Amino acid sequence: MTPTYDTLVLGAGPAGLAAAAACGEAGLRTALVAPEPARRWTNTYGIWLSAVPDLELAAAMQFTWPHVRVHHLCTHTVREAYGLVDNGGWADILRRRAERNGVRFIEGMAQGVTHGSDGSRVDIGGQTIVARSVVDASGGAGALLERRGEPSLFQVAYGETIEANLGPAMRWMEFGDEGTFLYAMPLGRDRVFVEETALVTTGMTYEDLRDRLHRRLAKLGIRTGRTLSIERVRIPMDVPIPPVQRVVAFGAASGMVHPATGYLLPRVVADAPILASTLAAHLNDGPEVASRAAWNALWPVGRLRQRELHRWGSEVVSRLDPSQLRTFFASFFALPPDVRRRWLADTLPPAHLAGAMATVFSRLPLGLKWRVATSSRAVFASLFPRLLEVS
Ligand SMILES: Cc1cc2nc3c(=O)[nH]c(=O)nc-3n(C[C@H](O)[C@H](O)[C@H](O)COP(=O)(O)OP(=O)(O)OC[C@H]3O[C@@H](n4cnc5c(N)ncnc54)[C@H](O)[C@@H]3O)c2cc1C
Repeated sequence: MTPTYDTLVLGAGPAGLAAAAACGEAGLRTALVAPEPARRWTNTYGIWLSAVPDLELAAAMQFTWPHVRVHHLCTHTVREAYGLVDNGGWADILRRRAERNGVRFIEGMAQGVTHGSDGSRVDIGGQTIVARSVVDASGGAGALLERRGEPSLFQVAYGETIEANLGPAMRWMEFGDEGTFLYAMPLGRDRVFVEETALVTTGMTYEDLRDRLHRRLAKLGIRTGRTLSIERVRIPMDVPIPPVQRVVAFGAASGMVHPATGYLLPRVVADAPILASTLAAHLNDGPEVASRAAWNALWPVGRLRQRELHRWGSEVVSRLDPSQLRTFFASFFALPPDVRRRWLADTLPPAHLAGAMATVFSRLPLGLKWRVATSSRAVFASLFPRLLEVS
């Protein structure tokens, strides 16, 4: 087979566009295939600005807030800038970078792949595309990936953009009596995006979250006008990292969503150039070698350990009752700001992350320590083999 492209990227979400733009910039002949390559992203994406290592993207925000208000046992201010991503702006920037470097956008749906020694043939329904490497950024399901199990923990949220005034502060992880969190982004004078979020859960319905949100707003004495839009969020938090294989997984398909927070965008922005430069450096050694090198570059051992620690933490958190959760997060927010920032941005090396977890644990009251310790034992028993696997 004679490959037409060096890389074929599947998907036109944040991960697919970031990967295609980076591959184009690395000098790879690149194509991107998606059912609707120009479709606008509809999710509401919020991010910590300092976590985005790309100045142009970090500047493309619909709204920014210089700091955020957090409430658990008490109210305090996290002095970190937070932004609401301008989805059209991000997609335009990434698409422009891709097009500038000759990336081709193809409408289609990847349905199957066969691999040879020179490259891979991807069937997109009546048409076959041949490329030396394939990057699957087709979202949580991973269209062409061999998987290793299903996710069990989800972040579930129900959000509304409403006519109301909750004041100028961005409210982030504001704890409620019922064990879920309020996120509130003021969008100008009389408009606000409010979202009730179950951080990590095995089962919570949108209806339950909607009712909680409405009860909370009523309790706060907020007068609301029209509901302008509704968002329902379900993010798989622990998509198992697929085994190393010829198709390279990227973005949600790869289990890159931060298992403790649900964030992904900063990670794909940071990792797309790593993916591209690794493929560019190794494709001449053959597709098999290049894929393996890309997997290893995206998931070095430290990253795997870090992820398993976060996953462990999330699973323990998912077992706490509302009052325990409140106390747990008060201890988390008492961490030094830099440690907390890097924990949330997923940039704490595993040993530091383990140290920070131990600090949070040491500050818990005795009863909660016992609860966390007993949950941890059960969770650790299930995760220990995987921690060994990556050591
Ligand atoms: C409602 C919601 C809100 C979120 N909010 C945040 C947030 O605030 N901050 C944050 O960092 N993260 C957030 N996330 C998590 C994560 O950032 C998103 O899930 C993100 O959209 C994942 O990006 P992705 O490109 O990997 O996948 P997706 O955005 O799911 O994109 C997948 C792409 O692949 C295409 N595709 C599907 N099947 C095929 C196929 N067979 N062949 C070719 N193409 C295919 C799709 O059409 C689409 O273009 C949120 C997630 C959701 C669901």
